Amino acid sequence: MYFFDPHIHMAARTTDDFETMAKAGCVVVGEPAFWMGYDRSGVDSFRDYFRQLTEWEPQRAANHGIRHYCWMGINAKEAENVEFAREVIALLPEFLTRPSVLGIGEIGLHKNTPNEVTTLLELIELGMKTDEQLLFHTPHLEDKYLGTRMILDILRADSRIDRTRVCVDHCEEHTIRPVLDEGYWAGITLYPTSKATPQRAADMVEIYGAERILVNSSADWGPSDPMAVPALMFEMRRRGHAESLIQQLVYDNPLKFFSQSRNFQFTPPE
Ligand SMILES: [Zn+2]
Repeated sequence: MYFFDPHIHMAARTTDDFETMAKAGCVVVGEPAFWMGYDRSGVDSFRDYFRQLTEWEPQRAANHGIRHYCWMGINAKEAENVEFAREVIALLPEFLTRPSVLGIGEIGLHKNTPNEVTTLLELIELGMKTDEQLLFHTPHLEDKYLGTRMILDILRADSRIDRTRVCVDHCEEHTIRPVLDEGYWAGITLYPTSKATPQRAADMVEIYGAERILVNSSADWGPSDPMAVPALMFEMRRRGHAESLIQQLVYDNPLKFFSQSRNFQFTPPE
């Protein structure tokens, strides 16, 4: 079965990972801009990173028969310095028109501070101006519940938001229900140590169904697994779920969500 990994940081992974994923059936990856594990010293570091995501990574993926799409943004961890964030936001329009860019992401909150909110509102403003899809990062661990509520409050207050074109990512058991209830796509990240394991994700699908759920590995430079999506497929199979349900989760859903972006063009391998 073919699958998408709709949220993975391939810039932090080796070419061997592309090969392993391709052999397992991966046909499309989505790479949101994020924190590379260190703070950038200036806006040109972001420019080079955005070039990496739009010029080099698509080629590296294509060498393994995988289509690479990306999201442009400034992550919440680097959003605290509002002035610096504004310089990065000013860079975004020239990249948003590039052919493999799906929208603005991953943006959101990290420590739920007023400065992070200021930057987030400016990113949403840009997204509304240029009609982008939006991908939200929700905070880690003890900050997640409050941060997710804050993001949902911000979105609810903005009547321009088309909820079917928004994904709120890294949902867990205590945050997925409001995200789905309010009409957004809910991302579930499969991490070995935090966020959700394949077993916990399978439990959530059994409770809430598969509609508007996107599962991803979010694999990056930290403890993570680029084969996490196939691990969930295996777990679902082990539990006796229908192949059609598994395909909806790992292929049909991300295809439907990505297809709402004007830059997404994909011909299935069949
Ligand atoms: Zn991420």
